[in-house]
Amino acid sequence: MDNVIFADADSDYKKAHYVICGVPYDGTSCFRKGSCFAPDEMRKFSYNFETYNPFFDIDLDYVAIHDFGDLEVAEDINSTLAMISGHADTFVGDGKIPVMLGGEHSLTLPFARACKNKNPGLGFVVLDAHLDLRDEYKGERNSHACISRHIIDEVTEKYVSVGVRSGTLNEYGYVKENGINVFSSDDVFNSGIEEIVNEIRKIINGPVYLSIDMDAIDPSFAPAVGTPEPYGLTPRDVRGIIACLAPDIVGFDLVEVAPAYDTGGTAILGAKLVRDFIAASARAQL
Ligand code: MN
Ligand code: MN
Repeated sequence: MDNVIFADADSDYKKAHYVICGVPYDGTSCFRKGSCFAPDEMRKFSYNFETYNPFFDIDLDYVAIHDFGDLEVAEDINSTLAMISGHADTFVGDGKIPVMLGGEHSLTLPFARACKNKNPGLGFVVLDAHLDLRDEYKGERNSHACISRHIIDEVTEKYVSVGVRSGTLNEYGYVKENGINVFSSDDVFNSGIEEIVNEIRKIINGPVYLSIDMDAIDPSFAPAVGTPEPYGLTPRDVRGIIACLAPDIVGFDLVEVAPAYDTGGTAILGAKLVRDFIAASARAQL
């Protein structure tokens, strides 16, 4: 499947409003590796869908999307982050909306930072089963288990996490002490996604970065993730959040799909959510 581009992402870089890039890196993943294969897997499955998106009533054939291909990565995470941050800065500096296909969750940091530099009031919404608030994990500060901590410490305190159902006692203590905005998957189940979206809007109403860790979604819908966690969100919950935030989203990523554990369904859902994001965002600009 070499050189397959994401479906409908055949615009020139110059003309494109959305720039898709893959980052095939899973070096700090601990439980089930293989998210490095996810970008191509999602590209492959992106051809499953019609160009017309009836839910958002827009045809992606008429949206300027460019697939930049995969970014070069190194063996260790710190070199990898350094290598991809230049690209993230360039995409955002050129006025593009970056759409990053992971890879593991630690890769979000340079993209969020690039968006923050361009949009000083940036908010950050992450969908994740996990708090990801560790200071370091197994001696690695840039582990995928630490991404939310880095976002809050180094990028923006306008932070909201949705779908959470896993963390250490320490991480939950950190949430309480620091008043971190966390909506659990049970909150979403009990209140409905509309209510949660209203709550998010009270915290963030300006430019926002949306990061989707696929393990936010229930393993019955998305089994092929690095660290699956039962009692998750539904795909419709996630689409609801995308639909609501899309007009303000300036950067987007979808991470932690591990194709080796898939019969296709997780990568198909990942590809669909990417397409839904672009459709929702493009629709909002008409
Ligand atoms: Mn995560
Ligand atoms: Mn997670």
